[in-house]
Amino acid sequence: MAGALETPAGTETAPNPLRDARAQLAEAIQILGLNGGMYEVLATPRREVTVSIPLRRDDGTIEVLLGYRVQHNMSRGPTKGGLRYSPDVNLDEVRALAMWMTWKCALVDIPYGGAKGGITFDPRNYSPQEIERVTRRYTSELMPIIGPMIDIPAPDMGTDEQVMAWMMDTYSVNTGFTVPGVVTGKPVNIGGSLGRANATSRGVSHIALAALAHCGLVPEQTTVAVQGFGKVGSGAALFLWQAGVKVTAISDQYGAISCADGIDVALLKKHVESTGSVVGFAGTEPLADRDDLLYADVDVLIPAATEGVIHGGNASQIKAKLIVEGANGPTTTEADRVLEAAGVFIVPDILANSGGVIVSYFEWVQANQAFWWTEAQVELRLTERMDHAWHRVVNAAAARGMNFRQAATVLAVETVASAHTARGLYP
Ligand code: NAD
Repeated sequence: MAGALETPAGTETAPNPLRDARAQLAEAIQILGLNGGMYEVLATPRREVTVSIPLRRDDGTIEVLLGYRVQHNMSRGPTKGGLRYSPDVNLDEVRALAMWMTWKCALVDIPYGGAKGGITFDPRNYSPQEIERVTRRYTSELMPIIGPMIDIPAPDMGTDEQVMAWMMDTYSVNTGFTVPGVVTGKPVNIGGSLGRANATSRGVSHIALAALAHCGLVPEQTTVAVQGFGKVGSGAALFLWQAGVKVTAISDQYGAISCADGIDVALLKKHVESTGSVVGFAGTEPLADRDDLLYADVDVLIPAATEGVIHGGNASQIKAKLIVEGANGPTTTEADRVLEAAGVFIVPDILANSGGVIVSYFEWVQANQAFWWTEAQVELRLTERMDHAWHRVVNAAAARGMNFRQAATVLAVETVASAHTARGLYP
């Protein structure tokens, strides 16, 4: 698409999520018949901040980390999105993740635009006290641009409810009063929502089961491989296993394991709690390479680790016929083409993993009203919203001859573009 925006560099074997996010947007703009100006508006983040975070290490030395916050679009409300701690964090990645958040919020009709944040460091190499100092300094640097009506962070890769508690406390202390609505995914005893901790994984499994039915697969006769055993992957594997699906392969960043008879996911979770990894779990075989999990002979593949893992260089080796994207952006645009030609059915991230932001929205509503819902209310409202979005995507795909990613992106972009048009351009 013509315009002032440069296409970020990258090759198919070195995926660039921003390039993929913009390619998906360009396709949706074309399908909707919108103009190049709208593409440029929606391809460009509204606000980006880079901060340096000087850290006093426990041994007294000083180190400076880099942190980012990108707010992609504010047409439909405050911005919302996770905070990632990973050595791979960079500005283009954060921009892509922020754009996908905008589409996700629009698709499930919650009144937010998308944002994302990250700090480039590996939290496994830092003490809890150091991570707390990093989190508090990052939060104080972002004070002017976050807040319950501005931008609301949540956990993502490498962060958890403790990190959200430190953010909420830092923001509140500097504001002079307690502001529970500034973050979501925080502990329940300081205004977190019941059901938030496993909302993303519950949603992934809920949508995976809907997709199985759509494809004529019966849970008890279905095998699944899950990449990543963190907040999203472990819960998705557990809920699917509880629904009778046979989980035959699981990986994390340290390695991959398999068992043709199915893995007892509840026991595996205990093993991971005590050892830190899926590797070495009794009764399973190690796979030669961690990424061999992607090529497992299964019906369903759930990538739930990070973006760009299924790319032009390996897509043809995937044997699964159904991919349910737990991670954000795990499949590159080139891989999408290869997989579609091979008849692989993909349930896109902005639909499959939207359970997290849906319950984050519920948490924000509860925190702002100081009125708490029961876990049963949260779960019912979560599944109602996900079912509604699922049927919208199924119907749009059928009506317009689109695949599910196109349908989901088109519905979302249409929603955001119409809000943008209604508000007009200032000045
Ligand atoms: P997490 O940090 O809790 O877990 C990540 C897991 O992936 C870990 O088990 C890690 O060992 C594993 N991993 C990392 N790289 C890997 C690789 N190359 N191969 C195999 N395993 C690898 O993170 P999370 O919160 O579960 O997030 C996972 C993905 O889901 C991310 O893309 C994130 O943006 C997305 N997501 C998370 C949420 C949420 O609520 N946490 C919501 C929507 C989407």
